[in-house]
Amino acid sequence: MAELVEDLCGDGILISPGRASRPYDFRSTPDERLARCPFCPGHEAQTPPEVFAVREGGGADSPGWQLRVVPNLYPAIPRESTSDEAFGVHEVIVETPGHTARMGDLSHEELFLVLSAWRGRFREARRDERLKYGLIFKNQGPNAGASLEHPHSQFIALPFVPERIRARARALQGGEYRLQVQRELESLDHLVATSRRLAAVSPRASRFSYELWVLPKISESRFEECDDGLLEEAAALLGRLLQALDGMLNRPDYHLLVHTAPFGEDRYWWHFELFPRLNRVAGFEWATGVFINQVAPREATHSWRQALAV
Ligand SMILES: [Zn+2]
Repeated sequence: MAELVEDLCGDGILISPGRASRPYDFRSTPDERLARCPFCPGHEAQTPPEVFAVREGGGADSPGWQLRVVPNLYPAIPRESTSDEAFGVHEVIVETPGHTARMGDLSHEELFLVLSAWRGRFREARRDERLKYGLIFKNQGPNAGASLEHPHSQFIALPFVPERIRARARALQGGEYRLQVQRELESLDHLVATSRRLAAVSPRASRFSYELWVLPKISESRFEECDDGLLEEAAALLGRLLQALDGMLNRPDYHLLVHTAPFGEDRYWWHFELFPRLNRVAGFEWATGVFINQVAPREATHSWRQALAV
């Protein structure tokens, strides 16, 4: 049973003791990890029944899939609860049957399937009127908080909008912040790459070294309203960026986040946020919310462009 409490600033804290019993992969050898991986084909019985899959053959919860979505066996937040606040959705998107691939190793078609599944999770959650907000997040590697090696991302939907997200939504509703994003899209100091409708920028206010935002050039509120054409484009651009990241920093651990409008909000600017975990977030950052970034964003822009050109 989870409990939601608020700290002095209104930030929510989920007390979720059940999470502690989940397995932690990275203490074992690669062979051991492979043998007992709950996300590998043939091990479907080790997860809760799938809620979505893309498959060429086989029935539900059997091998033959290309991508699988299952409820998290150790959810941070339970699906049903007596509490009004501490319930929601916590799902795992198993991105490929291949155990050792990284997202940057996936083909364009595989990456497109992942993005479509992400879009589908938001669409599905929005149908439940009690849910107000959803986030897709990928923790690549143990330094980014992953507990299992097999390529996967996660979706959490909540019956409330977290304070930090509310602040983002407010900022993106105001003209000034939108103008800043617009300026970055047009600045050679910040623009890393573009495709027809999307751009990747190294934002002026990057909290992390090499932080990148990928967003539509013309503001759109909801990732889940992307058409297939835009998802194809996103898969192509994201694939290039992930390969560049792996080349530039020797396959680092990283986070990839999908920010879309809270379900009740109309004005937002959806974006992917991508950043490697090179430094630990330490005492000063936790205490103050002020991040120390050791790579100037315009230097990061230069490094990204070089890595993309290889
Ligand atoms: Zn596996």
